Amino acid sequence: MLKPDAVQNGHAGAILDHILKAGFRVVAMKYTRLSEDTAGKFYAIHRERPFYGELVRCMSSGPIYAAILEKENAVEDFRNLIGATDPAKAAPGTIRQLFAKSIEANAVHGSDSDDNADREGNFFFSEFERF
Ligand code: ATP
Ligand code: MG
Repeated sequence: MLKPDAVQNGHAGAILDHILKAGFRVVAMKYTRLSEDTAGKFYAIHRERPFYGELVRCMSSGPIYAAILEKENAVEDFRNLIGATDPAKAAPGTIRQLFAKSIEANAVHGSDSDDNADREGNFFFSEFERF
């Protein structure tokens, strides 16, 4: 996902350029907005964390781009491309170091396992929206 802060700040095109140049293929993509309810379900895994309410508010604050990306070793390579959760700690040249504002408004979301990538892809896309 390209998160609301990245879209609002006009970074969506530049971030997508980084992703494509890193060798990811777009299988599906849409421009949409999460309601608080939907954002809460997407991040339900973090329900008990202290930042959950703020995370849900942040993720529903504006439109996002959701995408399914494909590549060998995609989960690990994408996380290396985006950098650490906190942009202040993200390595130079990573998407979060270049484009993120704060630990909560951190520009992009990446799945943390193949299983969660499947689950999250199914959250946004039907089989007819994948190419
Ligand atoms: P994501 O799952 O969005 O790709 P991540 O895997 O790097 O990020 P997680 O630990 O899964 O980090 O946290 C999910 C999201 O919750 C983060 O991307 C960030 O927006 C928010 N978040 C995480 N830790 C904090 C924190 N300490 N304070 C505020 N927000 C946080
Ligand atoms: Mg995560």
